[in-house]
Amino acid sequence: MALKIWINGTLFDKQDAKVSVYDHGLLYGDGVFEGMRSYGGRVFRIDAHLDRLWESAAAIFLEIPISKEAMVEAINETLATNEILDGYIRLIVTRGAGTLGIDPTRTRDPQIIIIADHIELYPPKLYEEGLEIVTSSVQRTQAESLNPRIKSLNYLNNVLAKVEGLQAGCIEALMLNRNGEVAECTGDNIFLVRDGVVLTPSTDAGILEGITREAVMELARQAGHDVREATLALADVYAADEVFLTGTAAEVVPVVLIDGRLIGDGRPGPITRDMKKRFEALARG
Ligand code: PMP
Repeated sequence: MALKIWINGTLFDKQDAKVSVYDHGLLYGDGVFEGMRSYGGRVFRIDAHLDRLWESAAAIFLEIPISKEAMVEAINETLATNEILDGYIRLIVTRGAGTLGIDPTRTRDPQIIIIADHIELYPPKLYEEGLEIVTSSVQRTQAESLNPRIKSLNYLNNVLAKVEGLQAGCIEALMLNRNGEVAECTGDNIFLVRDGVVLTPSTDAGILEGITREAVMELARQAGHDVREATLALADVYAADEVFLTGTAAEVVPVVLIDGRLIGDGRPGPITRDMKKRFEALARG
């Protein structure tokens, strides 16, 4: 059965699911998106994802033409039609087709697109042994330019950092902000553990406020850990006992080598492994 893609209320076969080449989502990255996971047919923290989507849209003056309730129904319909229980959902809202100029007031018909597909996880070996990452020379965009809180279709900042990572043989790369502080990875948030304290860059560093990050902070607090949002330097990362990344696709993934420096003893640490287990239980439970 061909995958069915939901666009503005209609389910299309994958090969027929199309948008205009005049859509400003394509022409200018003018639109917003979300990536979600379903576990056993239930979407993890769907309300938080929809809140973030609506906030991203408001930040770019894009009005989503349906209600959150209708969006939930559409997501569930797309999952059910494709018979996906454990999957990944990509939700996209474009500005719609307009003229060749950037003026968003001359666009019409925002396209709401829902793709439900099977997830490509990192290889299981990486979860057991940990990931190697490098720091990218590409700075995370500053809030005054394009706020990383906005999950927009303009991901070139992240793509460029990802390319640097790939060129160094790494599937993730760490990004610093303009002050040289640790921000986040290209598609994941970062956590450190130092002397038992769980640390993550504060939202002021200029990051996407990850739904997984939020869940992991809650879980770490429930587990009795001291959890702090902090301003972190690269030196803090290098000196950490443990480092792990969080994201919808990755869930919780340990990092053991950064810029050629071994983290801790070079193996995923106890708090990282515990957080991974607790997150799995929360998501799949
Ligand atoms: N940072 C960036 C830049 C991201 O694109 C993502 C999502 N892939 C994350 C962090 C993690 O956010 P979430 O946990 O909501 O997936």
